[in-house]
Amino acid sequence: MSDCLFCKMVDGEIQPDVVYEDDDVLAFRDLNPQAPVHVLVIPKRHIATLNDLTPEDAELTGKLVLAARELAAREDLADDGYRLVMNCNAHGGQTVFHIHLHLLGGRPMGWPPG
Ligand code: AMP
Ligand code: ZN
Repeated sequence: MSDCLFCKMVDGEIQPDVVYEDDDVLAFRDLNPQAPVHVLVIPKRHIATLNDLTPEDAELTGKLVLAARELAAREDLADDGYRLVMNCNAHGGQTVFHIHLHLLGGRPMGWPPG
């Protein structure tokens, strides 16, 4: 997707602050962090929203969660805890239409979210 911000990051056209990369997954720091640690974990393949996931994407979505888990450990968030969030469409607050997992930590997260 040539007009997708996160695909441009995967393609190297835009260089985010990358904290993790493998064949299928890229993770980078959020430009507008909502917590002391705020990392976005994305699949390298363009998938616009959670609604577009198929059963064939089960392994890939698992890899997103496992990458977030690894990053939480690296950022020393594991014991205090952290939050993983995926927003979908307007009511979910999605603004970038390439799925991404938010890893948020370093402070207590309120509940319910706004
Ligand atoms: P969402 O609202 O769930 O779609 O999240 C999109 C996230 O992307 C927001 O938290 C933005 O701060 C973040 N974001 C937007 N542009 C960039 C960028 N160039 N680099 C890093 N994060 C970005
Ligand atoms: Zn994309």
